[in-house]
Amino acid sequence: MQKVILEQVREFNYLVKDSISGPNCIDPNVCHGDCCFIHIDIPRVLAQHYIDQGWASKEDFKRGSTFSFEINVDLEKLRCVFFSKEINGCALHLTGMKSPQCWVYPTGLDPDNVNTSCKKASGWFINDPISVKKAKGVLEDYVSLCRKEAEEENSPDSINQRLLALPIEKFDTLTPSSIAGIEDDWDIFNILIGEGYNLGVRSFCSEVGCDLEYFECSVVCEPLKKKLIKFLSENLSHFIQSNGFKSQYTFMELKNRKKS
Ligand code: SF4
Ligand code: SF4
Repeated sequence: MQKVILEQVREFNYLVKDSISGPNCIDPNVCHGDCCFIHIDIPRVLAQHYIDQGWASKEDFKRGSTFSFEINVDLEKLRCVFFSKEINGCALHLTGMKSPQCWVYPTGLDPDNVNTSCKKASGWFINDPISVKKAKGVLEDYVSLCRKEAEEENSPDSINQRLLALPIEKFDTLTPSSIAGIEDDWDIFNILIGEGYNLGVRSFCSEVGCDLEYFECSVVCEPLKKKLIKFLSENLSHFIQSNGFKSQYTFMELKNRKKS
């Protein structure tokens, strides 16, 4: 499946690259990447391809809720991480492996109903409707394979494997009220630290019968650690199978779901 996804991206790029024309997006007088402040869904295999080519690092992606991952937005540039200031455009554009969704805007890839304007300019045009229709078919197959990949990435087995890799020693350096939940990463789950004080772990502290004032506790104790790990191994995968997957799960929502 992974090889096929990469082939689809290659074929899609080949089909659309000369089939659409429009204003020169990389001319600073026209635009500054105004349509690139967006999280693009991406399959793991394509993200890995970008990393293998040296075009990205793991930090450029986060777990998604549609495909396995999403491309991050750089909050300083206020642009997608692949937006290059030097070229005033997408660093992937000429690689032949740009994410297919990024080619859809602004024309809509519909030769019978072309959207000729984007946020900044008009004059968009589909000059090879046959190739674009073919590309649309490739895009549909790509989307369904990417969804399949994401299902496999979030199957009970895969979730439990990443959960087993949770760096549990990190609990020993944290206060209970600093913990919000867990965060899904490439091959492991990590502890999610929340801003300020978090209440998600408080009920677990009550369950271990601790008398300490929750917000004054300086470090997660051994019984709490065991309880949290047990809770996650018994509930996380079920939660994901019935609620869908994403990048972060708070203890509050996991616990609430269990009650309902
Ligand atoms: S498509 Fe329009 S909004 Fe997007 S980069 Fe080009 S000119 Fe800017
Ligand atoms: S991958 Fe490229 S085209 Fe797509 S949002 Fe990012 S910078 Fe824009």
